[in-house]
Amino acid sequence: MKRRTLLPPCTDDDELARMRAAVKADAQDRPGVYRMHARSGEVVYVGKSKRLRTRLLSYFRGSYPEDKGARIIREAVHIDWDYTPSEFAALLLEMRQIKRLRPRLNVAMKRDDRHFAFIKISRGTAPKLTVVRGPTEDSAAYYGPFQGAQRVAESLRELNDALGLRDCTVDRRMHFSDQSELFQIARTPGCIRFEIHKCLGPCVGGCSESQYDQRLGLARAFLDCTDDTPLDTLRREMEASSERLEFERAAALRDKVQRLEELRVQFLRLRFGVESLTFVYTVPGHEGDDRVYLIRRGRVRDERPAPRTPNDKRALERAIADVYGPAERPTTRVPTHEIDEMLLLTSWFGRFPEEMERVRQVPHLSVLSRYATVALSATSQEA
Ligand code: SF4
Repeated sequence: MKRRTLLPPCTDDDELARMRAAVKADAQDRPGVYRMHARSGEVVYVGKSKRLRTRLLSYFRGSYPEDKGARIIREAVHIDWDYTPSEFAALLLEMRQIKRLRPRLNVAMKRDDRHFAFIKISRGTAPKLTVVRGPTEDSAAYYGPFQGAQRVAESLRELNDALGLRDCTVDRRMHFSDQSELFQIARTPGCIRFEIHKCLGPCVGGCSESQYDQRLGLARAFLDCTDDTPLDTLRREMEASSERLEFERAAALRDKVQRLEELRVQFLRLRFGVESLTFVYTVPGHEGDDRVYLIRRGRVRDERPAPRTPNDKRALERAIADVYGPAERPTTRVPTHEIDEMLLLTSWFGRFPEEMERVRQVPHLSVLSRYATVALSATSQEA
């Protein structure tokens, strides 16, 4: 990648005009990533474009302060950029630079993860499951991304209720039944959920730590689609209510079962979508600079120029064996540092399903890959 730099820094109208003239003279209309620098040297904004020159020139056309581009360029005194082989490469590089540099204007105008929701399992004592818009804590576990935060939140409430897990927003000290200092406070109800048996009450000695952890394990297994205990329990209760002719209660339980089933369907689709994002993707590049991306479970694990010689081909096959050889447990859990990349890939293949024609399936995963377009299109249509 070639880097070009514009100097000297510009701040007022004359200097902006000079910077614009330099962009016009110097920048090429090809994919790339650009950075806007403040006078202090701070990178205030990172962007990407399929046509870098056209994009950069557009910053100088907007009226200040109404136009977003005009506001950004007025903060910048210096622009530099890297050309990339393709738009896909530009997207990846932009995401990585934003993650590394955290430019303040990108953070202020952040848009990528607003459409998505994640289920977060917090760390610490008596972890809880909540719906969040994106990662806020590196050590927490995240499951997602999902469309429709409201629907996911409703279904998650049923899961918490079915397993007796806490969902209190205010973090309070937990007092398990096997902790010695609990006796004075054990009779004080934690909240209404404890009173109506929707929470085990880890805050008021309603359960031991191991009892709570066992329920949390069931929740994790449900989210990984490996256990149906919460659904089975509700279904049994529903049938029992029906047999006792308690139809109102049976109907309420049926609604709960449906909401949990919805969550299960969302997770199955998600797991399927994540597993399906596993293939070798070759992207044609500018002037023949084609690249190969080894993608596994929604993350680029290796990238290199497309092979031209027998040696290159052998090296690529070795990389393929390294990336796809080791077994990985299927799960809908996504490590925090991989979320942005998975969102980017989901969005890319959702927007351009025809790009799936360029993927080479990894032999033992070919069945999943065949369905990738369907899974990703469904996700994209719901966005
Ligand atoms: S009973 Fe205690 S731990 Fe459970 S939700 Fe209420 S306040 Fe939270």
